[in-house]
Amino acid sequence: MKKNFKLLLTTMAFFVLAFMSFRISAKADGEAINIYTVDDLLAVSENTNADYILMNDIDMAGIEWTPIDFTGNFDGNNHAILNLSVKSTSTEIRTTYDGNYKTYDTCFAGLFGVLENATIKNLTLKGINVTVNKEEPCFIGSIAGFSEKSSIENCSIDGTLRLDVSAKMFGVGGIVGYGGDGSITSTNADVTLICIDHDKENRDEQFMGGGYSAGYLDVDKCFIKIDGYDSDHGYVHDGGLVGMYILYPLGNNYAGYINNTRVEGMITFFEDNTDRRAYCKDFIGEVMNWTYEYVGNSSDFTRNEIKDYSKDLLPHYCEGGNFSKEVIESTCDEFGYTVYKCNDCNEYSYKADYTLKNHKLGELSVIEEATTEKEGLSKGVCSDCGAEVYVITPVVEEIIEEPEEIVEPDIVSEPETVPETKPVKEEEGDTLLKVFLIGGLVICIGLVAAIAVVLFRGRKKR
Ligand SMILES: [Zn+2]
Ligand SMILES: [Zn+2]
Repeated sequence: MKKNFKLLLTTMAFFVLAFMSFRISAKADGEAINIYTVDDLLAVSENTNADYILMNDIDMAGIEWTPIDFTGNFDGNNHAILNLSVKSTSTEIRTTYDGNYKTYDTCFAGLFGVLENATIKNLTLKGINVTVNKEEPCFIGSIAGFSEKSSIENCSIDGTLRLDVSAKMFGVGGIVGYGGDGSITSTNADVTLICIDHDKENRDEQFMGGGYSAGYLDVDKCFIKIDGYDSDHGYVHDGGLVGMYILYPLGNNYAGYINNTRVEGMITFFEDNTDRRAYCKDFIGEVMNWTYEYVGNSSDFTRNEIKDYSKDLLPHYCEGGNFSKEVIESTCDEFGYTVYKCNDCNEYSYKADYTLKNHKLGELSVIEEATTEKEGLSKGVCSDCGAEVYVITPVVEEIIEEPEEIVEPDIVSEPETVPETKPVKEEEGDTLLKVFLIGGLVICIGLVAAIAVVLFRGRKKR
Protein backbone atom coordinates (compact mmCIF):
# COMPACT_ATOMS: atom_id res chain seq x y z
CA MET A 1 0.00 0.00 0.00
CA LYS A 2 2.67 2.46 1.10
CA LYS A 3 4.59 1.89 -2.12
CA ASN A 4 1.53 2.68 -4.16
CA PHE A 5 1.08 5.96 -2.32
CA LYS A 6 4.74 6.82 -2.79
CA LEU A 7 4.45 6.10 -6.50
CA LEU A 8 1.42 8.34 -6.71
CA LEU A 9 3.08 11.16 -4.78
CA THR A 10 6.21 10.91 -6.96
CA THR A 11 4.14 11.00 -10.15
CA MET A 12 2.22 13.98 -8.82
CA ALA A 13 5.43 15.83 -7.95
CA PHE A 14 6.79 15.10 -11.41
CA PHE A 15 3.75 16.57 -13.14
CA VAL A 16 3.73 19.63 -10.90
CA LEU A 17 7.41 20.23 -11.69
CA ALA A 18 6.88 19.64 -15.42
CA PHE A 19 3.98 22.10 -15.35
CA MET A 20 6.07 24.72 -13.52
CA SER A 21 9.05 24.35 -15.83
CA PHE A 22 6.76 24.76 -18.83
CA ARG A 23 5.39 27.98 -17.36
CA ILE A 24 8.90 29.26 -16.70
CA SER A 25 10.19 28.49 -20.19
CA ALA A 26 7.15 30.06 -21.83
CA LYS A 27 7.57 33.22 -19.80
CA ALA A 28 11.34 33.53 -20.07
CA ASP A 29 12.20 37.13 -20.92
CA GLY A 30 15.31 38.50 -22.50
CA GLU A 31 16.65 35.38 -24.11
CA ALA A 32 15.73 34.81 -27.73
CA ILE A 33 13.80 31.71 -28.69
CA ASN A 34 15.84 29.52 -31.04
CA ILE A 35 14.30 28.48 -34.34
CA TYR A 36 15.76 25.22 -35.67
CA THR A 37 12.95 23.70 -37.72
CA VAL A 38 9.91 24.38 -39.88
CA ASP A 39 7.71 23.68 -36.84
CA ASP A 40 9.67 26.19 -34.75
CA LEU A 41 9.13 28.82 -37.44
CA LEU A 42 5.41 28.03 -37.63
CA ALA A 43 5.25 28.35 -33.83
CA VAL A 44 6.19 32.06 -34.03
CA SER A 45 2.46 32.62 -34.63
CA GLU A 46 1.77 31.38 -31.08
CA ASN A 47 3.91 34.07 -29.47
CA THR A 48 4.11 37.16 -31.64
CA ASN A 49 5.69 39.45 -29.07
CA ALA A 50 8.93 37.58 -28.37
CA ASP A 51 12.55 37.61 -29.50
CA TYR A 52 13.51 34.95 -32.02
CA ILE A 53 16.78 33.86 -33.56
CA LEU A 54 17.12 31.62 -36.59
CA MET A 55 19.67 28.82 -35.98
CA ASN A 56 19.38 27.00 -39.32
CA ASP A 57 18.45 27.69 -42.91
CA ILE A 58 14.85 26.54 -43.25
CA ASP A 59 13.13 25.19 -46.35
CA MET A 60 9.42 26.04 -46.32
CA ALA A 61 8.63 24.24 -49.60
CA GLY A 62 5.21 22.61 -49.60
CA ILE A 63 3.86 24.72 -46.75
CA GLU A 64 1.32 27.49 -47.16
CA TRP A 65 2.47 30.22 -44.78
CA THR A 66 -0.06 32.39 -42.97
CA PRO A 67 1.35 35.92 -42.48
CA ILE A 68 1.99 36.78 -38.84
CA ASP A 69 1.17 40.11 -37.17
CA PHE A 70 4.34 40.65 -35.17
CA THR A 71 5.58 42.98 -32.44
CA GLY A 72 8.80 41.16 -31.46
CA ASN A 73 12.37 40.94 -32.67
CA PHE A 74 13.37 38.45 -35.33
CA ASP A 75 17.09 37.90 -35.91
CA GLY A 76 17.73 35.81 -39.01
CA ASN A 77 21.30 35.30 -37.75
CA ASN A 78 22.41 35.38 -41.41
CA HIS A 79 20.32 32.32 -42.17
CA ALA A 80 17.75 31.96 -44.92
CA ILE A 81 14.14 30.94 -45.25
CA LEU A 82 13.67 29.19 -48.60
CA ASN A 83 10.58 28.88 -50.80
CA LEU A 84 8.17 30.69 -48.48
CA SER A 85 4.73 30.65 -50.12
CA VAL A 86 2.06 33.13 -49.03
CA LYS A 87 -1.48 33.18 -50.41
CA SER A 88 -3.50 34.75 -47.60
CA THR A 89 -3.56 37.98 -45.62
CA SER A 90 -3.04 38.30 -41.87
CA THR A 91 -5.85 39.07 -39.43
CA GLU A 92 -5.06 42.68 -38.49
CA ILE A 93 -6.67 45.53 -40.40
CA ARG A 94 -4.92 48.93 -40.50
CA THR A 95 -5.74 52.33 -41.94
CA THR A 96 -3.97 53.36 -45.12
CA TYR A 97 -4.13 56.82 -46.70
CA ASP A 98 -4.20 57.77 -50.35
CA GLY A 99 -2.82 61.04 -51.76
CA ASN A 100 -6.00 62.85 -50.73
CA TYR A 101 -5.78 61.43 -47.21
CA LYS A 102 -8.82 59.36 -47.82
CA THR A 103 -8.64 56.34 -45.50
CA TYR A 104 -9.10 52.66 -46.20
CA ASP A 105 -9.42 49.64 -43.91
CA THR A 106 -6.68 47.52 -45.37
CA CYS A 107 -5.38 43.96 -45.05
CA PHE A 108 -1.78 42.82 -45.55
CA ALA A 109 0.39 39.90 -46.60
CA GLY A 110 4.05 38.92 -46.53
CA LEU A 111 6.24 36.85 -44.22
CA PHE A 112 4.66 39.18 -41.68
CA GLY A 113 1.30 40.87 -42.15
CA VAL A 114 1.58 43.84 -39.77
CA LEU A 115 4.87 44.78 -38.09
CA GLU A 116 4.67 47.19 -35.18
CA ASN A 117 7.50 48.02 -32.75
CA ALA A 118 9.35 45.14 -34.38
CA THR A 119 12.90 44.52 -35.60
CA ILE A 120 13.68 42.17 -38.45
CA LYS A 121 17.38 41.74 -39.17
CA ASN A 122 20.05 39.53 -40.76
CA LEU A 123 17.43 37.53 -42.62
CA THR A 124 17.53 36.12 -46.17
CA LEU A 125 14.33 35.21 -48.01
CA LYS A 126 15.23 33.03 -50.97
CA GLY A 127 12.51 32.41 -53.54
CA ILE A 128 9.65 33.92 -51.55
CA ASN A 129 6.38 33.82 -53.46
CA VAL A 130 3.49 36.01 -52.36
CA THR A 131 0.40 35.56 -54.52
CA VAL A 132 -2.72 37.21 -53.18
CA ASN A 133 -6.18 37.64 -54.70
CA LYS A 134 -8.39 40.23 -52.98
CA GLU A 135 -11.50 42.33 -53.38
CA GLU A 136 -10.68 44.51 -50.36
CA PRO A 137 -7.95 47.16 -49.97
CA CYS A 138 -4.71 45.22 -49.64
CA PHE A 139 -0.94 45.73 -49.61
CA ILE A 140 1.65 43.02 -49.96
CA GLY A 141 5.43 42.94 -49.37
CA SER A 142 8.04 40.24 -48.89
CA ILE A 143 9.08 41.00 -45.31
CA ALA A 144 5.76 42.61 -44.37
CA GLY A 145 2.55 43.97 -45.84
CA PHE A 146 2.59 46.82 -43.29
CA SER A 147 5.40 48.18 -41.14
CA GLU A 148 5.14 50.91 -38.52
CA LYS A 149 7.62 51.92 -35.76
CA SER A 150 9.75 49.01 -36.94
CA SER A 151 13.17 48.51 -38.45
CA ILE A 152 14.29 46.12 -41.16
CA GLU A 153 18.06 45.82 -41.44
CA ASN A 154 20.64 43.73 -43.20
CA CYS A 155 18.12 41.54 -45.01
CA SER A 156 18.26 40.01 -48.47
CA ILE A 157 15.23 39.11 -50.52
CA ASP A 158 14.68 37.41 -53.80
CA GLY A 159 11.27 36.46 -55.04
CA THR A 160 8.02 37.20 -56.82
CA LEU A 161 5.03 39.09 -55.45
CA ARG A 162 1.72 39.21 -57.26
CA LEU A 163 -1.49 40.93 -56.26
CA ASP A 164 -4.69 40.38 -58.22
CA VAL A 165 -7.21 42.83 -56.91
CA SER A 166 -10.48 44.68 -57.45
CA ALA A 167 -10.47 47.31 -54.70
CA LYS A 168 -10.08 51.09 -54.40
CA MET A 169 -6.66 51.03 -52.69
CA PHE A 170 -3.86 48.52 -53.06
CA GLY A 171 -0.17 48.05 -53.65
CA VAL A 172 2.85 45.81 -54.02
CA GLY A 173 6.24 46.55 -52.42
CA GLY A 174 9.44 44.57 -52.83
CA ILE A 175 10.25 44.72 -49.10
CA VAL A 176 7.21 46.32 -47.41
CA GLY A 177 3.76 47.05 -48.77
CA TYR A 178 2.77 50.18 -46.80
CA GLY A 179 4.38 51.83 -43.81
CA GLY A 180 5.95 54.72 -41.96
CA ASP A 181 7.77 55.86 -38.83
CA GLY A 182 10.45 53.21 -39.32
CA SER A 183 13.34 52.24 -41.54
CA ILE A 184 14.80 49.84 -44.06
CA THR A 185 18.60 49.69 -43.88
CA SER A 186 21.35 47.74 -45.68
CA THR A 187 18.81 45.51 -47.38
CA ASN A 188 18.88 44.04 -50.90
CA ALA A 189 15.79 43.10 -52.83
CA ASP A 190 15.76 41.38 -56.22
CA VAL A 191 12.08 41.17 -56.95
CA THR A 192 9.51 40.59 -59.66
CA LEU A 193 6.37 42.56 -58.81
CA ILE A 194 3.03 42.05 -60.51
CA CYS A 195 -0.11 44.05 -59.78
CA ILE A 196 -3.28 43.47 -61.75
CA ASP A 197 -6.39 45.58 -61.25
CA HIS A 198 -9.42 43.51 -62.25
CA ASP A 199 -11.98 46.28 -61.75
CA LYS A 200 -12.09 48.09 -65.09
CA GLU A 201 -15.11 50.26 -64.16
CA ASN A 202 -13.95 52.08 -61.04
CA ARG A 203 -10.87 54.24 -60.62
CA ASP A 204 -8.56 53.16 -57.82
CA GLU A 205 -5.33 54.18 -56.10
CA GLN A 206 -2.55 51.79 -57.05
CA PHE A 207 1.02 51.68 -55.71
CA MET A 208 4.20 49.81 -56.56
CA GLY A 209 7.78 50.21 -55.29
CA GLY A 210 10.86 48.01 -55.23
CA GLY A 211 11.39 49.01 -51.58
CA TYR A 212 7.88 49.89 -50.44
CA SER A 213 4.81 50.92 -52.35
CA ALA A 214 3.58 53.84 -50.19
CA GLY A 215 4.29 55.63 -46.92
CA TYR A 216 7.36 57.25 -45.40
CA LEU A 217 9.83 54.61 -44.26
CA ASP A 218 13.42 55.85 -44.09
CA VAL A 219 15.81 54.06 -46.43
CA ASP A 220 19.60 53.85 -46.22
CA LYS A 221 22.22 51.70 -48.00
CA CYS A 222 19.76 49.52 -49.89
CA PHE A 223 20.08 47.90 -53.30
CA ILE A 224 16.92 47.26 -55.28
CA LYS A 225 16.53 45.27 -58.48
CA ILE A 226 12.99 45.52 -59.72
CA ASP A 227 11.09 43.95 -62.60
CA GLY A 228 7.60 45.38 -62.23
CA TYR A 229 4.34 44.77 -64.15
CA ASP A 230 1.42 46.99 -63.32
CA SER A 231 -1.95 46.91 -65.07
CA ASP A 232 -4.25 49.57 -63.68
CA HIS A 233 -7.59 51.17 -64.52
CA GLY A 234 -7.13 54.03 -62.04
CA TYR A 235 -4.25 56.12 -60.71
CA VAL A 236 -0.76 54.65 -61.00
CA HIS A 237 1.95 55.48 -58.43
CA ASP A 238 5.05 53.48 -59.32
CA GLY A 239 8.67 53.97 -58.26
CA GLY A 240 11.81 51.89 -58.52
CA LEU A 241 12.09 52.42 -54.75
CA VAL A 242 8.80 53.99 -53.54
CA GLY A 243 5.45 54.31 -55.31
CA MET A 244 4.23 57.31 -53.29
CA TYR A 245 6.07 59.11 -50.50
CA ILE A 246 3.46 60.38 -48.08
CA LEU A 247 3.64 61.47 -44.46
CA TYR A 248 0.53 60.22 -42.73
CA PRO A 249 -1.78 60.95 -41.05
CA LEU A 250 -2.50 64.47 -42.29
CA GLY A 251 -0.42 67.02 -40.34
CA ASN A 252 2.53 64.71 -39.69
CA ASN A 253 5.72 66.74 -40.34
CA TYR A 254 8.44 64.12 -39.93
CA ALA A 255 11.86 64.77 -41.54
CA GLY A 256 13.08 61.45 -42.90
CA TYR A 257 15.73 60.27 -45.34
CA ILE A 258 16.24 58.24 -48.51
CA ASN A 259 20.01 57.85 -48.79
CA ASN A 260 22.86 55.83 -50.30
CA THR A 261 20.57 53.56 -52.25
CA ARG A 262 20.79 52.13 -55.75
CA VAL A 263 17.86 51.13 -57.93
CA GLU A 264 18.11 49.03 -61.10
CA GLY A 265 15.39 47.67 -63.33
CA MET A 266 12.17 48.49 -65.08
CA ILE A 267 8.49 48.92 -64.42
CA THR A 268 6.19 48.04 -67.28
CA PHE A 269 2.78 49.55 -66.71
CA PHE A 270 -0.40 50.94 -68.15
CA GLU A 271 -2.77 53.49 -66.70
CA ASP A 272 -6.19 53.07 -68.28
CA ASN A 273 -7.57 56.43 -67.15
CA THR A 274 -8.43 59.65 -69.02
CA ASP A 275 -7.59 61.65 -65.87
CA ARG A 276 -3.86 61.06 -66.28
CA ARG A 277 -1.29 60.76 -63.51
CA ALA A 278 0.84 57.78 -64.56
CA TYR A 279 3.52 58.40 -61.94
CA CYS A 280 6.47 56.17 -62.66
CA LYS A 281 10.02 57.23 -61.77
CA ASP A 282 13.33 55.65 -60.83
CA PHE A 283 13.12 56.45 -57.10
CA ILE A 284 9.79 57.85 -56.02
CA GLY A 285 6.72 57.87 -58.27
CA GLU A 286 4.83 60.66 -56.53
CA VAL A 287 6.18 62.82 -53.71
CA MET A 288 3.53 64.24 -51.40
CA ASN A 289 5.97 65.72 -48.86
CA TRP A 290 9.39 67.02 -49.85
CA THR A 291 10.63 66.75 -46.30
CA TYR A 292 13.24 64.02 -46.57
CA GLU A 293 17.00 64.09 -46.99
CA TYR A 294 18.10 62.63 -50.32
CA VAL A 295 21.83 61.96 -50.83
CA GLY A 296 24.10 59.34 -52.35
CA ASN A 297 21.47 57.66 -54.51
CA SER A 298 21.85 56.29 -58.05
CA SER A 299 19.74 54.41 -60.53
CA ASP A 300 19.55 52.61 -63.85
CA PHE A 301 15.82 52.48 -64.38
CA THR A 302 13.41 52.21 -67.29
CA ARG A 303 9.88 53.61 -67.25
CA ASN A 304 8.09 51.38 -69.72
CA GLU A 305 4.58 52.69 -70.32
CA ILE A 306 2.23 50.57 -72.45
CA LYS A 307 -0.81 52.15 -74.11
CA ASP A 308 -2.62 48.94 -74.95
CA TYR A 309 -4.99 48.30 -72.06
CA SER A 310 -6.53 45.14 -73.45
CA LYS A 311 -4.02 42.68 -72.09
CA ASP A 312 -2.81 42.49 -68.46
CA LEU A 313 0.95 42.91 -68.16
CA LEU A 314 3.04 39.92 -67.13
CA PRO A 315 6.68 38.84 -67.28
CA HIS A 316 5.74 36.19 -69.82
CA TYR A 317 2.80 35.43 -72.10
CA CYS A 318 3.31 31.97 -73.61
CA GLU A 319 0.38 29.78 -72.68
CA GLY A 320 1.74 26.32 -73.33
CA GLY A 321 3.38 25.91 -69.93
CA ASN A 322 6.08 24.00 -71.77
CA PHE A 323 9.14 24.52 -69.56
CA SER A 324 12.44 22.69 -69.48
CA LYS A 325 14.09 22.22 -66.09
CA GLU A 326 17.70 22.49 -65.15
CA VAL A 327 18.59 21.62 -61.57
CA ILE A 328 21.56 23.47 -60.10
CA GLU A 329 22.83 21.50 -57.11
CA SER A 330 23.58 23.31 -53.88
CA THR A 331 27.09 23.64 -52.47
CA CYS A 332 28.52 24.69 -49.12
CA ASP A 333 28.25 28.34 -50.10
CA GLU A 334 25.25 28.50 -52.40
CA PHE A 335 21.69 27.30 -52.27
CA GLY A 336 20.65 25.03 -55.12
CA TYR A 337 17.71 25.86 -57.40
CA THR A 338 15.93 24.87 -60.57
CA VAL A 339 15.96 27.02 -63.69
CA TYR A 340 12.69 26.79 -65.59
CA LYS A 341 13.00 27.90 -69.22
CA CYS A 342 10.11 28.35 -71.63
CA ASN A 343 10.50 26.07 -74.63
CA ASP A 344 7.96 28.04 -76.69
CA CYS A 345 9.72 31.41 -76.78
CA ASN A 346 13.12 30.10 -75.65
CA GLU A 347 13.59 33.44 -73.86
CA TYR A 348 11.79 33.58 -70.57
CA SER A 349 13.28 31.73 -67.61
CA TYR A 350 12.99 31.89 -63.85
CA LYS A 351 14.54 30.29 -60.79
CA ALA A 352 12.53 28.39 -58.21
CA ASP A 353 12.61 25.41 -55.86
CA TYR A 354 15.64 26.44 -53.86
CA THR A 355 17.45 23.70 -51.96
CA LEU A 356 19.39 23.88 -48.71
CA LYS A 357 23.16 24.18 -48.75
CA ASN A 358 24.99 20.89 -48.97
CA HIS A 359 27.34 20.66 -46.01
CA LYS A 360 29.50 17.69 -45.08
CA LEU A 361 28.51 17.02 -41.51
CA GLY A 362 30.66 14.49 -39.70
CA GLU A 363 29.63 13.00 -36.40
CA LEU A 364 26.99 15.02 -34.62
CA SER A 365 27.68 16.27 -31.12
CA VAL A 366 24.74 15.98 -28.78
CA ILE A 367 23.65 19.23 -27.16
CA GLU A 368 20.55 17.82 -25.57
CA GLU A 369 19.63 14.12 -25.43
CA ALA A 370 16.20 13.14 -26.67
CA THR A 371 13.99 11.76 -23.92
CA THR A 372 10.62 10.09 -23.93
CA GLU A 373 9.04 13.53 -23.48
CA LYS A 374 11.27 15.82 -25.47
CA GLU A 375 13.09 15.94 -28.79
CA GLY A 376 16.87 16.10 -28.62
CA LEU A 377 19.23 18.54 -30.27
CA SER A 378 22.56 17.81 -31.96
CA LYS A 379 25.03 19.96 -33.80
CA GLY A 380 27.06 19.08 -36.88
CA VAL A 381 30.00 21.09 -38.15
CA CYS A 382 30.78 21.05 -41.88
CA SER A 383 34.24 19.64 -42.51
CA ASP A 384 34.58 21.80 -45.65
CA CYS A 385 33.35 25.22 -44.58
CA GLY A 386 32.90 25.04 -40.82
CA ALA A 387 29.20 25.90 -40.95
CA GLU A 388 27.18 24.75 -37.96
CA VAL A 389 23.98 22.85 -38.64
CA TYR A 390 21.55 21.85 -35.91
CA VAL A 391 19.70 18.57 -36.12
CA ILE A 392 16.64 17.61 -34.12
CA THR A 393 16.50 14.02 -32.89
CA PRO A 394 13.08 12.49 -32.31
CA VAL A 395 11.45 11.67 -28.99
CA VAL A 396 12.63 8.30 -27.64
CA GLU A 397 10.02 5.55 -27.71
CA GLU A 398 9.44 4.41 -24.16
CA ILE A 399 9.75 0.69 -23.53
CA ILE A 400 6.82 -0.34 -21.39
CA GLU A 401 8.01 -2.74 -18.71
CA GLU A 402 5.86 -4.91 -16.53
CA PRO A 403 5.53 -3.36 -13.07
CA GLU A 404 8.16 -4.76 -10.69
CA GLU A 405 5.69 -5.59 -7.99
CA ILE A 406 2.49 -7.36 -8.65
CA VAL A 407 -0.36 -5.43 -7.15
CA GLU A 408 -2.11 -7.12 -4.29
CA PRO A 409 -5.31 -8.83 -5.41
CA ASP A 410 -7.54 -7.02 -2.84
CA ILE A 411 -6.95 -3.62 -4.50
CA VAL A 412 -7.15 -4.79 -8.08
CA SER A 413 -9.60 -2.06 -8.98
CA GLU A 414 -7.13 0.73 -8.09
CA PRO A 415 -4.68 0.58 -11.00
CA GLU A 416 -7.45 1.76 -13.31
CA THR A 417 -7.13 5.25 -11.83
CA VAL A 418 -3.38 5.38 -12.37
CA PRO A 419 -2.64 7.51 -15.42
CA GLU A 420 -1.29 5.68 -18.41
CA THR A 421 2.30 6.47 -19.30
CA LYS A 422 2.44 5.29 -22.87
CA PRO A 423 4.72 7.32 -25.16
CA VAL A 424 3.00 10.51 -26.17
CA LYS A 425 2.86 10.98 -29.91
CA GLU A 426 0.23 13.65 -30.34
CA GLU A 427 0.95 17.22 -31.30
CA GLU A 428 2.48 19.38 -28.60
CA GLY A 429 -0.77 21.30 -27.92
CA ASP A 430 -2.65 18.06 -27.31
CA THR A 431 0.17 16.78 -25.14
CA LEU A 432 0.13 19.88 -22.96
CA LEU A 433 -3.64 19.66 -22.55
CA LYS A 434 -3.28 16.03 -21.56
CA VAL A 435 -0.49 16.87 -19.15
CA PHE A 436 -2.74 19.46 -17.47
CA LEU A 437 -5.70 17.09 -17.29
CA ILE A 438 -3.65 14.14 -16.09
CA GLY A 439 -1.72 16.43 -13.75
CA GLY A 440 -4.99 17.69 -12.26
CA LEU A 441 -6.32 14.15 -11.89
CA VAL A 442 -3.09 12.98 -10.27
CA ILE A 443 -3.04 15.94 -7.90
CA CYS A 444 -6.58 15.06 -6.77
CA ILE A 445 -5.72 11.40 -6.34
CA GLY A 446 -2.51 12.40 -4.59
CA LEU A 447 -4.32 14.65 -2.15
CA VAL A 448 -6.84 11.95 -1.32
CA ALA A 449 -3.97 9.51 -0.95
CA ALA A 450 -2.01 11.91 1.26
CA ILE A 451 -5.03 12.44 3.53
CA ALA A 452 -5.51 8.69 3.67
CA VAL A 453 -1.86 8.24 4.69
CA VAL A 454 -2.15 10.86 7.40
CA LEU A 455 -5.33 9.30 8.73
CA PHE A 456 -3.82 5.85 8.51
CA ARG A 457 -0.66 6.91 10.37
CA GLY A 458 -2.71 8.79 12.96
CA ARG A 459 -4.65 5.65 13.68
CA LYS A 460 -1.50 3.56 13.88
CA LYS A 461 0.06 5.90 16.44
CA ARG A 462 -2.93 5.57 18.62
ZN1 LIG B 1 7.62 31.67 -73.49
ZN1 LIG C 1 29.88 23.43 -45.70
